[in-house]
Amino acid sequence: MNRSEKKEWPDPSMNRRTFMKVSGTLAAWVIGGPLFTKSRLSATPLLVTGENPADAIETAEDIIYSVCQMCHSRCGLRAKVKEGILLKLDGNPYHPNNRDVNGNERPDISPLETDGRLPYDTPPEVAFRSLGRMCLKGQSGIQTLYDPYRIQHPLKRVGPRNSGKWMTISWEQAFSEIAAKINVLIPPSDRDEYINPAIPELGKKRNQLAFAPGRSVEKELSERIWRSGWGTVNSNLDHTSICEATRHVANGLITWDPKGSQNSLGGGRIEGWQPDILGAEFLLFFGANPLEADFPMVGMARNLMQFKRNGGKYVAIDPRFNNTAAKATGVSGQGIPPWIPILPGTDGALAMGMIHWIIENKKYDAQYLRNTDKEAALADGEPTWSDATYLVGKFTDIQGKPFFRYVTAKEAGLSNGVTV
Ligand code: SF4
Repeated sequence: MNRSEKKEWPDPSMNRRTFMKVSGTLAAWVIGGPLFTKSRLSATPLLVTGENPADAIETAEDIIYSVCQMCHSRCGLRAKVKEGILLKLDGNPYHPNNRDVNGNERPDISPLETDGRLPYDTPPEVAFRSLGRMCLKGQSGIQTLYDPYRIQHPLKRVGPRNSGKWMTISWEQAFSEIAAKINVLIPPSDRDEYINPAIPELGKKRNQLAFAPGRSVEKELSERIWRSGWGTVNSNLDHTSICEATRHVANGLITWDPKGSQNSLGGGRIEGWQPDILGAEFLLFFGANPLEADFPMVGMARNLMQFKRNGGKYVAIDPRFNNTAAKATGVSGQGIPPWIPILPGTDGALAMGMIHWIIENKKYDAQYLRNTDKEAALADGEPTWSDATYLVGKFTDIQGKPFFRYVTAKEAGLSNGVTV
């Protein structure tokens, strides 16, 4: 049966005799089920969470290694394909998201028997029995592939808006019709003119074309088309400003280097790094849910559980009792609960209250806050620094003379002026 075909239950073609046979079998299963289940359970070794025994009949030729696109983490995946049909998705054992990068600490044991990532020179004939971890959303990618409603071709609206009338067209037709419309809106002869000569910082009319893909997992390709090929600076208006801007801002604030390359993303700030979960002593998850939806969720979740096994304590702040909250430890003896269920939309008030309490009770790390640049941090043995406590910054003019002025939103980390 084609996977997109649906079979009704009960099957209308089923006659009374067949129905009695099926229901008799079901009744016997219901009566004998518990016994059967018990004997099966006692014979089956219990699996540890995350274990997933390989299929006994699969071969190395059945396995294709690729990358999961079900979220932005882009974990590795291992697809079992038989006769052209995708049967199962698992984690890619070669990939650092799916298996532990630090798991190869026992050189005396084969990586096939540990949780360590497989060395890249492990031949596929050896690796195919080995699985990496993959989250449920990643495993459900098979449903996306075979979703009968999956859009596989460009659709052109052929009725009024909201009429629901669409027509399938070829990629060639889609590209040529889009190009023709762009040529009318921004004619080739106008593209190198300024949008407004009185405001030259707006740039050329090429910038009037904006590509807003939501979350573009193929950003490198779309950047080549729209930024390098077409020439607009508005080549990737994604959703970062409402999703992970806080992480970029916080990371930027504690790594700002005024001498950093102004051409690098963030102008001397390092924004894209992740928390050192295994190196932490205490973790506070504030609007973050690493056991379900952070990224890379598979690696973050694994590290968080290892952190907990190592004796680490963490607290989850979230209106919902999510999985991260359910596994949280709190700090017993200090009256700190595992889960703080705030009301939706009150995160800012809670954060301001915490800041107020920290300042009032002088619980801030004054020495750390004195390190406003990289040199001061290095002298103090700190890997990071922050100028976030200052609204006024010290700058140097082109003659090398220092001066003070209010910092801009970009310098304060509220915007990097590039993508956030
Ligand atoms: S976290 Fe899950 S959904 Fe996201 S890329 Fe990894 S396996 Fe896929």
